[in-house]
Amino acid sequence: MYEIPFETPVQRLLLPAFDAKGLEVWVKRDDMIHPFISGNKWRKLKYALLEAKQQKKTHLLSFGGAWSNHLLALACAGAQFRFKTTGIVRGEEVHNPMMEMCRMFGMDIRFVSREQFRLKELGDQIPQDDDQMMIIQEGGKGEAGVMGCEEILADVPLVNRVFCAVGTGTTLAGISRAAQRQGMLAEGICVLKGAGTMDAEIEAMSGTGIKVHHRFHRGGYAKSDPDLMECIYQTASETGILFDQVYTGKMLLGVMELAEENYFRRGESILLIHTGGLMGLLSTFNRG
Ligand SMILES: *Cc1c(COP(=O)(O)O)cnc(C)c1O
Repeated sequence: MYEIPFETPVQRLLLPAFDAKGLEVWVKRDDMIHPFISGNKWRKLKYALLEAKQQKKTHLLSFGGAWSNHLLALACAGAQFRFKTTGIVRGEEVHNPMMEMCRMFGMDIRFVSREQFRLKELGDQIPQDDDQMMIIQEGGKGEAGVMGCEEILADVPLVNRVFCAVGTGTTLAGISRAAQRQGMLAEGICVLKGAGTMDAEIEAMSGTGIKVHHRFHRGGYAKSDPDLMECIYQTASETGILFDQVYTGKMLLGVMELAEENYFRRGESILLIHTGGLMGLLSTFNRG
């Protein structure tokens, strides 16, 4: 487990939108953890993998969509740490670069209909007789994941606020625990539409109060639009840092919009957690 670096840099993000408001913005580059075992997906898998090794499990199974950063991370980590992996994928069979990379890392990919997936009627897609198998929740949700995410703030400078993207909220739950100990405030930008009921669940996972902004999902999960892509391309060309359109780009643009609305005081310092997931950018290319 030690070949994956835990120490990732914190870098200043100099952008006109923040300068204009007198804000000092930093990025925690967890995208640099690993190209495939990326960002918060490594943080969330770490303790699950250690537990699997301790319990002498040899097979890991998890769930996700056809562009799941979590399944890609699991496939690659499984290969590196010698686990067999199975990915249960929501929706019709598709061939895309993400699924192909999962296969390269030896993952057994099985597609199930959205209906079956939602109802968790996965029937014979899940091997029933494999006591060497450990099931990892979709997106790496759960206490092991929260614990791993607490470590994101292990080595960061003190700032006024910390921001991350919110999918299941596991990352925010972990960051929020660590932030509270350090006297910082953690806030999330939710990338799902109509997910307001999730706040209480994240608070329960975290055991701390949390703050989630629900106005910046830009139409819903995995929906993107020209303004979002413009922000991502502009930021890439001005800083050398890529953000993706599903998670971190929405966090960045959300924080820019908050700055524009004078949500922050001049002179405040803000740390953005770059949770990785850059392979998802591949889904925006080659659309004719
Ligand atoms: C999965 C993912 C998230 C969402 O994390 P949660 O812990 O589920 O809230 C955020 N950013 C990236 C890049 C991701 O891949």
